[in-house]
Amino acid sequence: MEVPMLDLKAELAPIKDEIKSAVIEVVESAYYVLGPKVVELEERIAEYTGVERAVAVSSGTDALLIALMALDVGPGDLVVTTPYSFFATAGVIVRAGATPAFVDIDPDTYNMDPAALRQWFDSNSGRLDKVKAIIPVHLFGQCADMDGIMAVANEFGIPVIEDAAQAIGASYPSKNGMRKAGGMGAAGCFSFYPTKNLGGMGEGGMVVTNDGDLADKIAKLRNHGSEERYYHSIVGGNFRMDALQGAVLLVKLKHLEEWHAARRKNARYYLDNLKTDAVSLPKIAYDWDCHIFNQYVVNISERREELRERLRGKDIAHDVYYPMPFHLQKCFEKLGYKKGDFPNSEFAAGHSLALPIYPQMTTGMQDYVIETITGFYSA
Ligand SMILES: *Cc1c(COP(=O)(O)O)cnc(C)c1O
Repeated sequence: MEVPMLDLKAELAPIKDEIKSAVIEVVESAYYVLGPKVVELEERIAEYTGVERAVAVSSGTDALLIALMALDVGPGDLVVTTPYSFFATAGVIVRAGATPAFVDIDPDTYNMDPAALRQWFDSNSGRLDKVKAIIPVHLFGQCADMDGIMAVANEFGIPVIEDAAQAIGASYPSKNGMRKAGGMGAAGCFSFYPTKNLGGMGEGGMVVTNDGDLADKIAKLRNHGSEERYYHSIVGGNFRMDALQGAVLLVKLKHLEEWHAARRKNARYYLDNLKTDAVSLPKIAYDWDCHIFNQYVVNISERREELRERLRGKDIAHDVYYPMPFHLQKCFEKLGYKKGDFPNSEFAAGHSLALPIYPQMTTGMQDYVIETITGFYSA
């Protein structure tokens, strides 16, 4: 049996006609960049994530970059984030001209540890005036502990940009009630890369915010900093979304909750059936419904590479998110970090393993994955 990480053809099959007519509508409209479909998507995403405004952009990476630009983050500034995420989270900080400062993750959730964040602020009191943003990541589809993070951010007056690229539709039980990923900080950033729970047919992203002025500025930055054609009050870039992506994502958004539910069901199935001492299952920090399971990442205490070899031999797709934390990446050498600086991130890099959990995965496939893993450790 072959088990992929994702099966986009299976996802497409039941919605193919809807997608085709949405695409043809755009093709025949001859309106290919931004336009009514993108505006409608912005409205739907704002509604869905419980925020006032949403601005569609060219990718999740660009969503993060443009949010930093809109907050005037630049040379000499510091942006605090975690060293364990997809590269874009840290890459954009450098591209904005600023310097990343890392704080470690909570080993159980892989998300920013609010205690580590507080400790960083306590021990860097000499340069707090340089800190322009904090970027927590809602990794794998589960929100970071935002109450703890916002408490530190508010105490020091630092805006928070949520990297919610993997967490569209995830919820967080804040002390002020249930909140959606992306709607808690100054801005939230989503990605519509095809592997995300809401994936386009190409690149796309979105910035959401409750701050109308910030949204206006982001919309301007998206279009070379111009509101009136050929007049530029600030320097932006081309961060526009294609109309085709808007049309496709509008169709797919209608099915998103159903896909989240199918992923949750698969996560439950692993919980009930994947029982091996060497494998710890992901911690569900809040209600099950809060998690959207973009990835199902287990922790392997021994022989991970050998297990991967076995999985490969059995045609079971899997991956390591992420094998090297940012502070040990060659491109960040100049930041001066060393091995041992962030033990929880380093441990996660050495022990995590993502198993397939996509919505269309069958029970037969899950049984096959589970049998292969338990068989490997019981032999
Ligand atoms: C996917 C992802 C991004 C970048 O999104 P793209 O659309 O691929 O540019 C940023 N951060 C995280 C955590 C991601 O998973």
